[in-house]
Amino acid sequence: MNFHVMTLFPEMIENGLGESIIGRAAKAGYISYRAVNMRDYTVEKHGKVDDYPYGGGAGMLIQPQPVYDCYQDITKDMKTKPRTIYLTPQGKRFDQKMAKEFAKEEELVFLCGHYEGIDERVLEEIVTDYVSIGDYVLTGGELPVMVMIDAIARLVPGVLNNETSAETESFHNDLLEYPQYTRPPVWREKEVPQVLLSGNHQNIVKWRLEQSVKRTEVRRPDLYAKYQKKQSIVKRLSKKKRLYIHMMELLSRGLGEVLYERGMDIVLFEPESELYMVCAESLESAKYLVDKYLNSAGLVLTTSEVVVQALEEKKGMHICHKVWQYVYTLKEPLPVKHKDIRRLTMEHFAYVTEHYDMDDEEYVRNRIEKGQMFGAFVEDRLVGFVGVHAEGSCGLLYVDESCRGMGIGQSLENYIINYVKSLGFTPYGQVKEGNVASIKLQEKNGLYMAEEPLYWVGYE
Ligand code: SAM
Repeated sequence: MNFHVMTLFPEMIENGLGESIIGRAAKAGYISYRAVNMRDYTVEKHGKVDDYPYGGGAGMLIQPQPVYDCYQDITKDMKTKPRTIYLTPQGKRFDQKMAKEFAKEEELVFLCGHYEGIDERVLEEIVTDYVSIGDYVLTGGELPVMVMIDAIARLVPGVLNNETSAETESFHNDLLEYPQYTRPPVWREKEVPQVLLSGNHQNIVKWRLEQSVKRTEVRRPDLYAKYQKKQSIVKRLSKKKRLYIHMMELLSRGLGEVLYERGMDIVLFEPESELYMVCAESLESAKYLVDKYLNSAGLVLTTSEVVVQALEEKKGMHICHKVWQYVYTLKEPLPVKHKDIRRLTMEHFAYVTEHYDMDDEEYVRNRIEKGQMFGAFVEDRLVGFVGVHAEGSCGLLYVDESCRGMGIGQSLENYIINYVKSLGFTPYGQVKEGNVASIKLQEKNGLYMAEEPLYWVGYE
């Protein structure tokens, strides 16, 4: 990912970002940043870039010409117009959600104002996003741009070496992070909570969630209210847990947002695969939800036949797959006989795309980069893989023909269930018609099927 900063004070940016994690990530090539001096582009004598505002008023304004010429130079080799962010107290407030959205871009251009700001005409010409870092006025956009680059860059795969840390941090799923402790175990007579020293991973995960919830309630009642709202939907859905587990887990894991909810008329959205999850109580409400929320939907996962009917009638969509959902309900981890299973890296990308029956290479890349793919190795050779889908289900299973019948598939399935469980989530997956029997056989392992099917609806 490449950051381009248009500024009058490039040293500020270079000095500010050159240190620590972001500096190291740039040296290692995970990101790049450059600060370009807009003053170098002015056609005015003596490097002048500002002038008095028409109509009077305090201070000076940056003129359009140096800004525009600098922008043209930065973007001249880019194939598409990049998102160009003007840092301004008048913009939309920057937050973690916005950081995640920007982290998907390959190129980002930032424009730092100074003095009283910038001539409106050039902003209209080049800016795609107006962003503020808070309700206060700073002297320039350099500090805000460093805040933004820091928050965005740490979401780029490889920048932090712990893939899951961004998933447990503050603001993920509308909760603040739990309290953390390090050595020594006793300091000024204060002890580290016993549970953290217990080695019982499940209890630790449970304690941390409780602490996050408590802390959020006290410190950020606004976030807590959002969290509570999601929890109330999860509770409603839990009446048929196996049928609605995909929606419950999407909300509990903070992977999606609520677009609509009233009774059992619910629309959720998962941004990574642009998937809508819908349930509706009647054909009338299904039609309402399709009209209001699913206008631009290309892929819908639904438990309700009335939603399928409404999507067929109103949008010409049709059922692509009919699947049954299974949930792992026991506390104990499942046995994994095959011992050499490891997290995959981009080194294995070609193998996965070659063998997984899905054309979407970007999706595979995303799953690997997010640390959600694992492979089985025999004598150091990759022979199969499994993963967690963007919306949270276990899947992406493949075993090399030469290694079938050796229990590797079962080991991979059990491994991914244990992995999801270790994160404090409820593992679940979906099987197509032919596979239902195999899951039924696994009831002794703690896998239970939903009584009713789910429908993937699309245009395929
Ligand atoms: N006259 C402007 C106004 O009232 O909106 C304020 C200009 S401010 C003194 C100078 C520059 O600092 C702005 O152009 C902007 O780039 C940056 N800036 C100041 N406060 C900011 C904030 N809270 N978020 C983002 N950028 C900010």
